[in-house]
Amino acid sequence: MPIKINEIFYSIQGESVYTGIPCIFIRLTGCNLRCSYCDTRYAYDEGKQYTIPEIVEKIKKYRCPVVQITGGEPLLQDETHLLINRLIEIGYQVLLETNGSFQVSHLNEKCIKIIDIKCPSSNESQSTDLDNIRRLNSLDQLKFVVGDRPDYEYAVKIMKTYCQHISGDRLLFSPVAGKLDPAEMASWILNDRLNARLQLQIHKILWPDESRGK
Ligand code: SF4
Repeated sequence: MPIKINEIFYSIQGESVYTGIPCIFIRLTGCNLRCSYCDTRYAYDEGKQYTIPEIVEKIKKYRCPVVQITGGEPLLQDETHLLINRLIEIGYQVLLETNGSFQVSHLNEKCIKIIDIKCPSSNESQSTDLDNIRRLNSLDQLKFVVGDRPDYEYAVKIMKTYCQHISGDRLLFSPVAGKLDPAEMASWILNDRLNARLQLQIHKILWPDESRGK
């Protein structure tokens, strides 16, 4: 079965522990959530069907060993795990960014999962399957997108309740661009002596006027 792809592009990894390194992005079409701050609404429906060999052929030209599969919500399509398996089989390091509403335990253990934990201001915090956090291994990462102080407090609560097995450098606190001043969140993290990583979306700093393919 083909996979519906919104866009494939080569850029600088803007988030996660891998921030700053060149990376191929495969953005899959479709999402089951509707977050208030979503900046990839164009991926809800737009896209074209590709087979896995066609995707592999298309990304070869970038000569880059790292691929991030993102969306939309990549796990909405049943074939995504087959794409992950194939990319790992042929030597790629694969990162998967998911909204955390689908189980991740069946995924290839070499795939590095980055789960977005939806905070209240997203209007989708009830959609996260928090059991997924227990299924993460030491290479996986959690990302809290924080829009305001209540979001921050929610993120801290989730972190303290579910995340003891995850090291602080893999707990990413990311302010919603244009909504929460990163310096303000930095002061909250320092005041609370929080063992977490402040993350800025550097692709938005590098290319502030680009809304796609960056
Ligand atoms: S999960 Fe991601 S793609 Fe889906 S609505 Fe939320 S921000 Fe947008």
